[in-house]
Order: sequence, then C-alpha cells, then structure tokens
Amino acid sequence: MTLATTADHRAIAAGLSFEGRVFIAGRFVAAAGGEMMETVNPATGEAFASVASGQAKDIDRAVAAARTAFRDGAWSRSAPERRKAVLLRLADLIRANAAELAVLESLDSGKPIRDCVKEISIEVPDTLQWYAELIDKSFGKVAPTGEDALALITREPIGVVGVILPWNFPLLMAAWKLGPALASGCSVVVKPAEQTSLSALKLAELAAEAGLPDGVLNIVPGLGETAGRALGLHPDVDAISFTGSTEVGRLFLRYAADSNLKAIGLEMGGKSPFIILDDADLTPELIEHAVTAAFWNGGQNCSANMRQIVARSRQEEFLSLVTERARALVVGDPLDPATDLGPMVTAEHRARVLDFIEMGTGDGARCVLPADPALATRPGSFLGPTVFAELSPGMTIAREEIFGPVLGVLPVDGPEQALTIANDSAYGLHATVFTRDIDRALFMARRLACGTVAINGFTEGDIKTPFGGYRQSGSLARDKGTEAMAQYLQTKTSWISLKSPAIG
Ligand code: NAD
Repeated sequence: MTLATTADHRAIAAGLSFEGRVFIAGRFVAAAGGEMMETVNPATGEAFASVASGQAKDIDRAVAAARTAFRDGAWSRSAPERRKAVLLRLADLIRANAAELAVLESLDSGKPIRDCVKEISIEVPDTLQWYAELIDKSFGKVAPTGEDALALITREPIGVVGVILPWNFPLLMAAWKLGPALASGCSVVVKPAEQTSLSALKLAELAAEAGLPDGVLNIVPGLGETAGRALGLHPDVDAISFTGSTEVGRLFLRYAADSNLKAIGLEMGGKSPFIILDDADLTPELIEHAVTAAFWNGGQNCSANMRQIVARSRQEEFLSLVTERARALVVGDPLDPATDLGPMVTAEHRARVLDFIEMGTGDGARCVLPADPALATRPGSFLGPTVFAELSPGMTIAREEIFGPVLGVLPVDGPEQALTIANDSAYGLHATVFTRDIDRALFMARRLACGTVAINGFTEGDIKTPFGGYRQSGSLARDKGTEAMAQYLQTKTSWISLKSPAIG
C-alpha cells in the first residue's frame, strides 16, 4: 500500500464511523448498565468517540458465548482446511480495509500513520496468514512402544481464552494472540486497552464477515480493574494471554490462584540494553538503529533499547551523532506521513515520562538533548526526544521502564562490564549488540539474559521467531512463531492397549 498524504488521511478520518458497543456472540450489543468511556485523540486532547465500559456481567455473557461456541464445535472441531480458509479471508479483509484501519488506529493511539500503515497493511494480516497456513501442517506424534500398545500424543485447543491487550500496538498485539488462538480452535474473549479499543471492534466486524462462527471471537472493551479483573477471575476461562505491564501481569497470577488456576501467559515490560563495543563502526546505519531502538513509537515499546551501553572510548562520538539524529526526528501530527513521533498515548502518561526525566536530571545524569519545550504549549500530549549522558546503573531512569522518548548513555570499559550492567535488571526482554567480531557477538548473545538478542541491527525478529521475556519481562509463554501455539493447546496421551490377533 502506498502512503497517502495528510489530507488523504484527514479525509478518511472524516468519513469514519465508530462502533463502540461490546461484541458478543456475533453481534454488537450495549454493555450491561450502559456505561460508556470517552475515546480521546492524543494529538488534540479531544474526545472523538465513545466506547462501552464493559462490566463483569458483560464478561460473563462473553465467556458464556465463547464456551457455547467451543462446545458446539463449529470452530473448535472443524476441519483444519475450514479454519485456514476463514483466517485467510480475514487476512484479506484486513488488507482491503487497511487504509481505514490505519487511520482509526492512528487517531485512537497517536501512533504515526507510517507505522500504522506498515503494521496494519502488512504485519497484522501476514501474522494471521502465517498461523492460518500452519493449521493443516501441524501433526501429532506416536510414542515408541512395544507391539502391545499404540500411544498417540495429540494436542487439543485449551478452550476459552481471555486476551488482554496493551495500547501501544493495539491491532498488532491482537493479531499476535488471535492468530495462534484461533488457529488452534480456541474461542476467545478480548479485553482491549481502555485507551485503544476501536480497532479491535472493527476487527470483530471483519472476522464475522470472514465467516468466523458466532461466539468464537468476543470483544469486551472496558477498564482494567473492572472488565480485565472479571476476565482474570472468571471460573470458566481456561487460559489468559496477557500483554502489558509487569505490575498488572502479577495481578493475573493472583487472579488465577484465586479462581480456577487457569493457565497464564505473560508478555510484560522491559529495560533493554543496546550495547556498542569498541570495535563497532559508528556508521549512519548504526545511529539509525540506536535512534529507532529508543524512540520508535515514542519509546512506548516494551523492547525499547533505552539503556545504550557504549564503550567509553566511543562515547563522545556516539553522543554527538545520536543527538544530531534525534534532534532531526519529526514530532507532530500522527496523520502526516513525515511524522516520526506522535504524542504520548495520554496526558497522564506524558506527565509520568516527564517525572522520569526530572528524576534523571536530579540524579545527576547529563541532559544533552532536552525535550523541546515548545511542544508543551500545543494541544495534545506531545513530547520530543530526550538524550541523557553519564547514566549510572543505579539511577532510577537506568532501572525502571520509562515507556517514553528517552535515551540514556552508560559508558563502559569492555564487554564484561557491558554484560554485567546489561544483565543487572529485573527485566530480560531484549538486547542489541553492535560489534564487528563474530566471536564477541556470539559470546554476548549467549551471556545476555533475555528472550531476544539482536546483533548488528535493532529488530524484534519476524513472525517466524518467538518473542517473550526472561525474568519479570515474561512467563515461559512466547508470542509469534510456532512456540506461540503452546499458549493455546494442551497435550493429550491416548494409550491404546493391543492384543496380538490370532492370524491363520
Ligand atoms: P497495563 O498493564 O497498564 O495494561 C495492560 C492491560 O491490562 C490493559 O488492557 C488494561 O486495561 C489491563 N489492566 C490494567 N489494570 C488491570 C487490572 N487491575 N486487572 C486486570 N486487567 C488490568 O499496560 P499498558 O500501559 O497498556 O501497556 C504498557 C506495558 O505493556 C508496558 O509495560 C510494556 O512494556 C508492556 N508491553 C509488553 C509487550 C511484550 O510483548 N512483552 C508488548 C507491548 C507492551
């Protein structure tokens, strides 16, 4: 899909209609009690739609619909070819509606349209397509036994899955979870983040059009402590797949313990390092990766490489190059294809990031690029990039997830010290290493305690590679790749005792 102009995006925005009701059993219906939440455009600070604030009763209705659909078997026991055809149709419908969906996502979240277009016209449908194509290529196993038995090892859908989503990649995170959950035959209840519910509701409409049976996909927008909590505590939900903060992930373990011990898959926060060893060439490509690693999506990214750990001998050169590039980032209207950084998702979130910036200065970090003060005077929750030098590992801004456009440089005296600092974290989601020496690169990759290590380029991999965290960044669950299926399937052994037949 080619990028349109700001005016084209505005025209699409003007023509959008917003569905804000809950989606249960194949229909949009009003939420119990009729409570609504305002949806605010973070670029203007103005409400532009209202969305149902789902209550425990809505979660009950959605789980009941999901259970009925699961038992009925129209999806859970359907032929693999049928599930594949429906998911491929859904992927095509998303491609066909990508322009509207991208504008919707941009208005709702403040994400730059360029990123929304890439995610929604390519990554979201490709994810669904990848899992659709896996459906009729996944086999069970036969265990080795004597002739007196046949032992089958099969995998079955776990049942009703609750999906809890964050606001930073609303539709992409939905696809990472719905692809494998639906491919495996599960029924799903999605609770989108309260800041960004609109694209999930539109997805439900497209799923129905693609032929997904009623009740297999239900969407209940609402507040975390109301709808999210009710889903976590529900006795008839078999598994939860959660993406969000470590703080809330911890609550889901409690919800499981306090209810039916449902399986909990957690993808959570991070404080990821970006390591530049002394032999790395500080090329424009490297600088581009460093800036993307810290500022992509305004730093509102779980794998943001905010801790940039740089060989002391290269620190000043790196700082000057990275600051120059960060200064050139375009902060502005998310609907403008030239925009690199949109606003923070809410004014409260911007205030939280500003508190961290203040703490950094207070703790003695040297601010080499302060956030542009002019942005504070315009409507919306804009915040420009900030770069700090001389971070030390004990500072709050070097330890806690900021989730905003802040890059901090920590100077080190060699790979061992870089590793010690990189691994000295409660988190373990991602790391990047730049070096020309393959032995050093692999040494670092083996020693870094995290789920993804990127060598000589900031990347989260692609749909074929699992994504998830060590330590407090995640549970053993993974999104993406064939590994993601494990969240939605359970393993069954069928042991068949055999007698030798009397032949002849
Ligand atoms: P959050 O934890 O505040 O919210 C996530 C979801 O949990 C939302 O749907 C929210 O409504 C719900 N929730 C909030 N409080 C709840 C409660 N008391 N009970 C039940 N549900 C509740 O996270 P966020 O602010 O939406 O997203 C940012 C976080 O997500 C960051 O920490 C980021 O690192 C993480 N994240 C992780 C990944 C990953 O794959 N590891 C990807 C994206 C974002």
